[in-house]
Amino acid sequence: MTAVAELMDYAEVVERFDPVLGLEVHVELSTNTKMFCGCENVFGGEPNTHTCPTCLGLPGSLPVVNGKAVESAIRIGLALNCEIAEWCRFARKNYFYPDMPKNFQTSQYDEPIAFNGYLDVTLDDGEIVRVEIERAHMEEDTGKSLHVGGATGRIHGAEHSLLDYNRAGVPLIEIVTKTIEGTGERAPEVARAYVSALRDLLKALDVSDVRMDQGSLRCDANVSLMAKGATEFGTRTETKNVNSLRSVERAVRYEMTRQAAILAGGGSIKQETRHFQEADGSTASGRTKETAEDYRYFPEPDLVPIAPSREWVEELRGTLPEMPAVRRKRIQQEWQLSDAELRDLLNLGAVDLIAATVDAGATPAEARAWWVATLAQEANTREVELDALPITPAQVAEIIALVNSGELTNKLAKQVATGVLDGEGSPREVVEKRGFKVVNDDSALLAAIDEALAAQPDIAGKIRDGKVAAAGAIVGSVMKATKGQADAKRVRELIIERVGS
Ligand SMILES: [Zn+2]
Repeated sequence: MTAVAELMDYAEVVERFDPVLGLEVHVELSTNTKMFCGCENVFGGEPNTHTCPTCLGLPGSLPVVNGKAVESAIRIGLALNCEIAEWCRFARKNYFYPDMPKNFQTSQYDEPIAFNGYLDVTLDDGEIVRVEIERAHMEEDTGKSLHVGGATGRIHGAEHSLLDYNRAGVPLIEIVTKTIEGTGERAPEVARAYVSALRDLLKALDVSDVRMDQGSLRCDANVSLMAKGATEFGTRTETKNVNSLRSVERAVRYEMTRQAAILAGGGSIKQETRHFQEADGSTASGRTKETAEDYRYFPEPDLVPIAPSREWVEELRGTLPEMPAVRRKRIQQEWQLSDAELRDLLNLGAVDLIAATVDAGATPAEARAWWVATLAQEANTREVELDALPITPAQVAEIIALVNSGELTNKLAKQVATGVLDGEGSPREVVEKRGFKVVNDDSALLAAIDEALAAQPDIAGKIRDGKVAAAGAIVGSVMKATKGQADAKRVRELIIERVGS
């Protein structure tokens, strides 16, 4: 075990040092097939079942570029405000690793498909930080090693290792920022907000399922410190494969406090890759970082260059969806939300659900009330995320419509929602199965009203004397008699009519 690193108090770190960040995000594209062969591109599966001679790197096999992956790369580049190369090539990045059977990764080096862009990132308090993008390039993923027999699942202490090449050759886009300076104490928050904004963007583009927990979106965080007033960058470390938004923030913060303690003690930072440890939020030393020269990059001789025509690029620009930040602004106006209300909806993960419910016919206010109150409670009780509840926005809109048409009371509507969540079927099916039908028949209601008035003879007089609130007791009796299936508003109207006549 390595000794526990000494850390500097965060307030002191930001007083004495300026952090400099660089973020590299790998995103797996959700194309049907792999980057250079026709193997199915799916997560998981029995080990080594989605493989062929090409993605196993067998001698004599030849790669062919996946056109759909190039299209996705260009759309990502355009959405990140990048320039798109008129001509670019793949390159071989040479290194040995057991999960990479060719002993080189087909990547792009000095000729990326997209470069020179930016992404505007909104922080929690509404401040916008522009993160400049150096490049977005195409490459392929590696396979996976599974270390068996040890306690930790790591190679140390393992008895043997297994290799699964299902992931080898899955299309990846690597998105690299330029150095991010001047964020000071907010550096960890900026890092998280950037990855979050990028994830939203990739989701809107529909090019990846962006599941950080499954590794389809992974972040490497480069962090270095400069003493205040210094003019040269410090030595950086690269924390690899951080796999949640919260971990991105924690990893950056940890590295800042660790590096500051070393620098303040007169030590120097080793340029290396580090691994983030979920359990305690620390980072641990990995391998010494290679430089580009170590990889002996050279142009890939088995693939033709990519030269996207300007017409095609413009055609793809036309397919870009409304950008998430723009959409958020529009929604805030259309739904008339304060900044705080919008932030609450975002934190709850309710915006897309409400928008889809509105698309299915509900008003924003109705949809919001359902998702934020009733359904958020259900999600809480069932301990799942809101979007994992087994009810669709269309079903929620259907329930709202049943209330609006007078076929359900609010109280019954909630029971219908519970029925849908419990797997009893669609809202209409639940209404039928549970025998929910609002009593709309005035004569039936009048009979119940007459009965209630007869049982409580003083009430009619009170109502006639102007004490309209007294009608509440009769409404209550009628609701009880109809097992809650009457429209309370209609009952009240009928009582007033009855007593007045
Ligand atoms: Zn293959």
